[in-house]
Amino acid sequence: MLTLGIDIGSTTSKAVIMQDGTTLVASSCIASGIGTNGVKDALREAFDNSGLSMKDIDASTVTGYGRVVYEDADYAVSELTCHALGGRWVWPDLRTIIDIGGQDAKIIALNEQGNMSGFLMNDKCAAGTGRFLDVMAGILKVDVSELGAMALSAKKIIPISSTCTVFAESEVISQLSHGEEISNVVGGICESVAVRVSSFAKRVGIRERVCLSGGVAKNEGVKAALEKALGVSISTSEYAQVFGAIGAAISAYKKKTR
Ligand code: ADP
Repeated sequence: MLTLGIDIGSTTSKAVIMQDGTTLVASSCIASGIGTNGVKDALREAFDNSGLSMKDIDASTVTGYGRVVYEDADYAVSELTCHALGGRWVWPDLRTIIDIGGQDAKIIALNEQGNMSGFLMNDKCAAGTGRFLDVMAGILKVDVSELGAMALSAKKIIPISSTCTVFAESEVISQLSHGEEISNVVGGICESVAVRVSSFAKRVGIRERVCLSGGVAKNEGVKAALEKALGVSISTSEYAQVFGAIGAAISAYKKKTR
Protein backbone atom coordinates (compact mmCIF):
# COMPACT_ATOMS: atom_id res chain seq x y z
CA MET A 1 0.00 0.00 0.00
CA LEU A 2 1.33 3.47 -0.89
CA THR A 3 0.59 6.39 1.41
CA LEU A 4 1.35 10.08 1.12
CA GLY A 5 2.37 12.35 4.00
CA ILE A 6 2.26 16.12 3.64
CA ASP A 7 3.68 18.56 6.20
CA ILE A 8 2.87 22.22 5.61
CA GLY A 9 5.04 24.37 7.87
CA SER A 10 5.38 28.11 8.31
CA THR A 11 8.58 28.14 6.27
CA THR A 12 8.77 24.90 4.25
CA SER A 13 6.44 22.32 2.64
CA LYS A 14 7.34 18.65 2.73
CA ALA A 15 5.89 15.55 1.04
CA VAL A 16 6.83 11.88 1.37
CA ILE A 17 5.54 8.68 -0.18
CA MET A 18 5.86 5.45 1.81
CA GLN A 19 5.17 1.82 1.10
CA ASP A 20 3.25 -0.14 3.76
CA GLY A 21 4.04 2.47 6.41
CA THR A 22 7.66 1.27 6.58
CA THR A 23 9.67 1.96 3.42
CA LEU A 24 10.43 5.47 2.23
CA VAL A 25 9.78 5.68 -1.52
CA ALA A 26 10.31 9.43 -2.13
CA SER A 27 10.59 12.68 -0.21
CA SER A 28 10.77 16.37 -0.98
CA CYS A 29 11.18 19.64 0.89
CA ILE A 30 10.43 23.02 -0.68
CA ALA A 31 11.46 26.30 0.93
CA SER A 32 7.96 27.85 0.85
CA GLY A 33 5.41 27.21 3.56
CA ILE A 34 1.78 27.96 4.32
CA GLY A 35 0.00 30.32 1.95
CA THR A 36 2.28 29.61 -1.03
CA ASN A 37 2.59 27.12 -3.89
CA GLY A 38 5.02 25.14 -1.69
CA VAL A 39 2.68 22.16 -1.24
CA LYS A 40 2.03 21.80 -4.97
CA ASP A 41 5.76 21.99 -5.66
CA ALA A 42 6.59 19.49 -2.90
CA LEU A 43 3.99 17.04 -4.25
CA ARG A 44 5.23 17.46 -7.82
CA GLU A 45 8.82 16.80 -6.74
CA ALA A 46 7.91 13.68 -4.70
CA PHE A 47 5.86 12.28 -7.61
CA ASP A 48 8.53 13.14 -10.19
CA ASN A 49 11.25 11.47 -8.06
CA SER A 50 9.21 8.28 -7.67
CA GLY A 51 7.60 8.05 -11.10
CA LEU A 52 4.25 7.77 -9.31
CA SER A 53 1.12 9.92 -9.50
CA MET A 54 -1.74 10.78 -7.16
CA LYS A 55 -3.81 7.88 -8.53
CA ASP A 56 -1.22 5.40 -7.12
CA ILE A 57 -1.77 6.70 -3.58
CA ASP A 58 -4.09 4.67 -1.33
CA ALA A 59 -4.37 7.17 1.54
CA SER A 60 -2.94 10.53 2.55
CA THR A 61 -2.50 12.56 5.74
CA VAL A 62 -1.70 16.23 6.08
CA THR A 63 0.02 17.68 9.14
CA GLY A 64 1.77 20.89 10.19
CA TYR A 65 0.71 24.43 10.84
CA GLY A 66 -1.01 24.60 7.43
CA ARG A 67 -3.05 21.41 7.76
CA VAL A 68 -6.26 23.29 8.53
CA VAL A 69 -6.24 25.02 5.15
CA TYR A 70 -5.40 21.95 3.05
CA GLU A 71 -8.51 20.02 2.01
CA ASP A 72 -7.23 17.34 -0.38
CA ALA A 73 -5.91 14.81 2.14
CA ASP A 74 -7.93 11.92 3.61
CA TYR A 75 -6.83 12.68 7.18
CA ALA A 76 -5.43 15.63 9.17
CA VAL A 77 -3.21 14.72 12.13
CA SER A 78 -1.33 16.88 14.67
CA GLU A 79 2.36 17.63 14.18
CA LEU A 80 3.15 16.15 17.58
CA THR A 81 1.82 12.72 16.63
CA CYS A 82 3.51 12.86 13.23
CA HIS A 83 6.93 13.94 14.56
CA ALA A 84 6.73 11.15 17.14
CA LEU A 85 5.89 8.56 14.45
CA GLY A 86 8.59 9.90 12.13
CA GLY A 87 11.25 9.96 14.85
CA ARG A 88 10.39 6.44 16.07
CA TRP A 89 10.60 5.22 12.47
CA VAL A 90 14.33 6.03 12.58
CA TRP A 91 14.97 5.24 16.28
CA PRO A 92 12.49 2.85 17.95
CA ASP A 93 13.99 3.74 21.37
CA LEU A 94 13.38 7.50 20.96
CA ARG A 95 12.05 9.25 24.11
CA THR A 96 12.55 13.00 23.49
CA ILE A 97 12.11 15.05 20.32
CA ILE A 98 13.43 18.60 20.09
CA ASP A 99 11.72 20.01 17.01
CA ILE A 100 13.05 23.42 15.93
CA GLY A 101 11.20 24.70 12.89
CA GLY A 102 10.91 27.96 11.02
CA GLN A 103 8.73 29.79 13.53
CA ASP A 104 8.33 27.59 16.57
CA ALA A 105 10.12 25.04 18.72
CA LYS A 106 8.54 22.04 20.44
CA ILE A 107 9.73 19.51 22.98
CA ILE A 108 7.87 16.20 22.78
CA ALA A 109 8.38 13.56 25.49
CA LEU A 110 7.49 9.95 24.61
CA ASN A 111 6.96 6.96 26.88
CA GLU A 112 8.52 3.56 26.14
CA GLN A 113 5.60 2.66 23.88
CA GLY A 114 6.14 5.82 21.83
CA ASN A 115 3.04 7.61 23.09
CA MET A 116 3.30 11.28 24.00
CA SER A 117 3.77 11.81 27.74
CA GLY A 118 4.64 15.52 27.81
CA PHE A 119 4.90 18.53 25.56
CA LEU A 120 5.90 22.21 25.51
CA MET A 121 5.94 24.67 22.63
CA ASN A 122 7.40 28.11 22.03
CA ASP A 123 5.49 29.85 19.25
CA LYS A 124 5.40 33.29 20.86
CA CYS A 125 8.95 34.45 20.37
CA ALA A 126 11.27 34.19 17.34
CA ALA A 127 14.34 33.73 19.57
CA GLY A 128 14.86 29.98 19.93
CA THR A 129 13.44 29.20 16.47
CA GLY A 130 14.72 28.95 12.89
CA ARG A 131 13.44 32.48 12.31
CA PHE A 132 16.15 33.86 14.60
CA LEU A 133 18.82 32.02 12.60
CA ASP A 134 17.31 33.18 9.29
CA VAL A 135 17.35 36.83 10.45
CA MET A 136 20.94 36.54 11.67
CA ALA A 137 22.09 34.84 8.45
CA GLY A 138 20.52 37.78 6.58
CA ILE A 139 22.50 40.32 8.62
CA LEU A 140 25.73 38.36 8.14
CA LYS A 141 24.99 37.90 4.41
CA VAL A 142 25.56 34.14 4.56
CA ASP A 143 23.20 31.26 3.80
CA VAL A 144 21.49 29.72 6.84
CA SER A 145 23.01 26.36 5.84
CA GLU A 146 26.50 27.81 6.48
CA LEU A 147 25.89 28.82 10.11
CA GLY A 148 26.50 25.36 11.63
CA ALA A 149 30.01 24.90 10.22
CA MET A 150 30.88 28.52 11.04
CA ALA A 151 29.81 28.03 14.66
CA LEU A 152 31.87 24.85 14.98
CA SER A 153 34.96 26.74 13.78
CA ALA A 154 34.53 29.50 16.41
CA LYS A 155 37.63 30.05 18.54
CA LYS A 156 35.55 31.64 21.29
CA ILE A 157 31.84 32.22 21.75
CA ILE A 158 30.64 35.82 21.78
CA PRO A 159 27.44 35.52 23.82
CA ILE A 160 24.28 37.38 22.86
CA SER A 161 22.67 38.99 25.90
CA SER A 162 19.43 40.28 24.31
CA THR A 163 16.44 38.01 24.66
CA CYS A 164 14.64 39.77 21.82
CA THR A 165 15.46 39.08 18.15
CA VAL A 166 15.26 42.77 17.22
CA PHE A 167 17.71 43.80 19.96
CA ALA A 168 19.92 40.77 19.20
CA GLU A 169 20.16 42.03 15.61
CA SER A 170 21.62 45.36 16.82
CA GLU A 171 23.93 43.50 19.19
CA VAL A 172 25.33 41.35 16.35
CA ILE A 173 25.81 44.41 14.12
CA SER A 174 27.64 46.16 16.94
CA GLN A 175 29.88 43.10 17.60
CA LEU A 176 30.84 42.95 13.92
CA SER A 177 31.56 46.66 13.79
CA HIS A 178 33.91 46.17 16.79
CA GLY A 179 35.89 43.71 14.67
CA GLU A 180 34.71 40.43 16.24
CA GLU A 181 35.38 37.44 13.99
CA ILE A 182 32.21 36.38 12.21
CA SER A 183 32.56 32.70 13.21
CA ASN A 184 32.78 33.67 16.91
CA VAL A 185 29.63 35.77 16.53
CA VAL A 186 27.87 32.87 14.80
CA GLY A 187 28.94 30.63 17.69
CA GLY A 188 27.08 33.01 20.02
CA ILE A 189 24.03 33.05 17.73
CA CYS A 190 23.76 29.25 17.71
CA GLU A 191 24.35 29.08 21.46
CA SER A 192 21.61 31.64 22.03
CA VAL A 193 19.05 29.41 20.24
CA ALA A 194 20.27 26.36 22.16
CA VAL A 195 20.06 28.12 25.54
CA ARG A 196 16.46 29.21 24.88
CA VAL A 197 15.34 25.81 23.67
CA SER A 198 17.15 23.94 26.45
CA SER A 199 15.54 26.06 29.17
CA PHE A 200 12.07 24.88 28.24
CA ALA A 201 13.26 21.38 27.28
CA LYS A 202 14.40 20.98 30.90
CA ARG A 203 10.86 21.81 32.03
CA VAL A 204 9.49 18.86 30.06
CA GLY A 205 12.31 16.59 31.25
CA ILE A 206 14.92 15.01 29.01
CA ARG A 207 15.07 11.25 28.61
CA GLU A 208 17.45 9.56 26.21
CA ARG A 209 17.34 8.78 23.34
CA VAL A 210 17.03 12.45 22.35
CA CYS A 211 16.77 13.61 18.73
CA LEU A 212 16.50 16.87 16.84
CA SER A 213 13.82 17.28 14.19
CA GLY A 214 12.85 20.15 11.91
CA GLY A 215 15.07 22.18 9.61
CA VAL A 216 17.33 23.45 12.40
CA ALA A 217 18.43 19.82 12.97
CA LYS A 218 20.76 20.48 10.00
CA ASN A 219 22.61 23.13 12.00
CA GLU A 220 25.52 21.30 13.69
CA GLY A 221 26.34 24.40 15.75
CA VAL A 222 22.91 24.44 17.42
CA LYS A 223 23.11 20.67 17.93
CA ALA A 224 26.52 20.89 19.64
CA ALA A 225 25.39 23.81 21.83
CA LEU A 226 22.21 21.93 22.81
CA GLU A 227 24.23 18.83 23.74
CA LYS A 228 26.39 21.02 25.96
CA ALA A 229 23.42 22.81 27.54
CA LEU A 230 21.46 19.60 28.21
CA GLY A 231 24.42 17.28 28.94
CA VAL A 232 23.13 14.56 26.60
CA SER A 233 24.06 13.24 23.20
CA ILE A 234 21.52 14.19 20.51
CA SER A 235 20.76 12.02 17.47
CA THR A 236 20.18 13.58 14.07
CA SER A 237 19.12 12.07 10.77
CA GLU A 238 19.22 13.11 7.14
CA TYR A 239 15.41 12.81 7.34
CA ALA A 240 14.99 15.15 10.36
CA GLN A 241 13.32 17.91 8.34
CA VAL A 242 10.75 15.46 6.90
CA PHE A 243 9.96 13.58 10.14
CA GLY A 244 6.52 15.22 10.25
CA ALA A 245 5.75 14.16 6.67
CA ILE A 246 7.10 10.63 7.30
CA GLY A 247 4.90 10.39 10.39
CA ALA A 248 1.94 11.63 8.35
CA ALA A 249 2.48 8.88 5.75
CA ILE A 250 2.78 6.26 8.53
CA SER A 251 -0.38 7.62 10.14
CA ALA A 252 -2.28 7.37 6.82
CA TYR A 253 -1.21 3.70 6.58
CA LYS A 254 -2.30 3.01 10.17
CA LYS A 255 -5.68 4.69 9.68
CA LYS A 256 -6.35 2.96 6.37
CA THR A 257 -5.46 -0.53 7.67
CA ARG A 258 -7.02 -0.34 11.13
P1 ADP B 1 8.62 24.59 9.33
O1 ADP B 1 8.23 23.12 9.30
O2 ADP B 1 8.31 25.26 10.63
O3 ADP B 1 8.16 25.33 8.14
P2 ADP B 1 11.35 23.58 9.11
O4 ADP B 1 11.24 22.51 10.15
O5 ADP B 1 11.43 23.13 7.69
O6 ADP B 1 10.20 24.66 9.27
O7 ADP B 1 12.62 24.47 9.49
C1 ADP B 1 12.92 25.64 8.78
C2 ADP B 1 14.16 26.26 9.39
O8 ADP B 1 15.23 25.35 9.26
C3 ADP B 1 14.60 27.52 8.70
O9 ADP B 1 14.02 28.63 9.34
C4 ADP B 1 16.12 27.49 8.84
O10 ADP B 1 16.53 28.23 9.96
C5 ADP B 1 16.46 26.03 9.08
N1 ADP B 1 17.14 25.40 7.95
C6 ADP B 1 16.58 25.05 6.76
N2 ADP B 1 17.50 24.49 5.94
C7 ADP B 1 18.67 24.48 6.62
C8 ADP B 1 20.00 24.03 6.32
N3 ADP B 1 20.31 23.48 5.15
N4 ADP B 1 20.92 24.15 7.28
C9 ADP B 1 20.64 24.71 8.47
N5 ADP B 1 19.41 25.15 8.82
C10 ADP B 1 18.43 25.05 7.91
